[in-house]
Amino acid sequence: MFPIAAGPAPRRRSIPVRVGAVTVGGEAPIVVQSMTNTDTADVNATVAQVSALARAGSEIVRITVDRDEAAAAVPRIRERLDRLGVAVPLVGDFHYIGHQLLAAHPACAEALDKYRINPGNVGFKEKKDRQFGAIVETAIRYGKAVRIGANWGSLDQELLTRLMDENARSPAPLDARAVTREAMVQSALLSAARAEEIGLPRGRIILSAKVSAVQDLIAVYRELARRSDYALHLGLTEAGMGSKGIVASSAAMGVLLQEGIGDTIRYSLTPEPGGDRTLEVKAAQELLQTMGFRTFVPLVAACPGCGRTTSSVFQELARDIQDWIAASMPDWRRRYPGVEGLTVAVMGCIVNGPGESKHADIGISLPGTGEQPAAPVFIDGRKAVTLRGPTLAEDFKTIVKDYIETRFDPARRSAAE
Ligand code: SF4
Repeated sequence: MFPIAAGPAPRRRSIPVRVGAVTVGGEAPIVVQSMTNTDTADVNATVAQVSALARAGSEIVRITVDRDEAAAAVPRIRERLDRLGVAVPLVGDFHYIGHQLLAAHPACAEALDKYRINPGNVGFKEKKDRQFGAIVETAIRYGKAVRIGANWGSLDQELLTRLMDENARSPAPLDARAVTREAMVQSALLSAARAEEIGLPRGRIILSAKVSAVQDLIAVYRELARRSDYALHLGLTEAGMGSKGIVASSAAMGVLLQEGIGDTIRYSLTPEPGGDRTLEVKAAQELLQTMGFRTFVPLVAACPGCGRTTSSVFQELARDIQDWIAASMPDWRRRYPGVEGLTVAVMGCIVNGPGESKHADIGISLPGTGEQPAAPVFIDGRKAVTLRGPTLAEDFKTIVKDYIETRFDPARRSAAE
């Protein structure tokens, strides 16, 4: 028998960066980030959204700092979050006038844990270096990290024009898209080198180079990873709404993570009107968990259903179990360390039900159309009991709860040892 190897490539070695109490890069787990879409000057709305994102599992939250009112609100937001016990590090997203805002609002500079600078719009011509330098010097003075985030939609035009001109003169010119990708990589790397020249330690710099097309993103990050050891923040910019945004982001980041590239990730999803902003956190967690990098919540594996499941019983049970686990997790996480690694299977019929259920910690195989109205339950790969009747869902939850208590309750575990 030939062993079939599985798993990602070894993680690329990056220089670790502290962002508040969180470490990005090095040996640290891949970090989940998110960004608010409230007006930062609206302290109540921003505190509420940062809290929701942090409670959903976002480990770093970025907020827009676009004008004086927003910069003035930042220390108040930090203070309110601290009072609520929400210690999540805050990143200020600066464009065009970041140097002025940080100089005019020292409490904002102090309250933030990281500054995000876009080298494409930090200033133009002779002002660019001066304004970029001013932000970097502020970061040095306050001991903060900086993310240098190039973006396809606001790429440094001087750099792009220079590379396009050089390419046009070359005997074998590349297509314009390839030159733009090179400009993205150079924009991030040249700005990072400039920040180091000014005196920002290498261990305080994170790079990103976000583009909106999957193949471009993969190509750009492979190059960034090859040419540097800075910690890398991954994300597909303007990913879009709903399943399109989730699929495109997962495809791009999944490939890079599998190659060992990426220290922190964000899903830039466009929420539905009135939609839940925390979806981007959930998507990031699910990507990391399904790929085996981290565990956040117990996974419920459910079959898709087919012509053998003519009733909706198993869909309802799968949804019911998933919602019950999600609602119980804040309490379980505290009481049952390690419970996030639990796997549960809810399957629709006898074809794959018993097999898949045996692979989970606990699985139930519901009766398909024409099958006996009985649902065998498997625990740790062995058939434990068969459930029947109208209390089936509640009976199954009781079994799951008992299993969690037996396996993850520290008191019961140590009594059993
Ligand atoms: S387990 Fe049964 S119900 Fe579910 S998809 Fe497979 S055949 Fe269909």
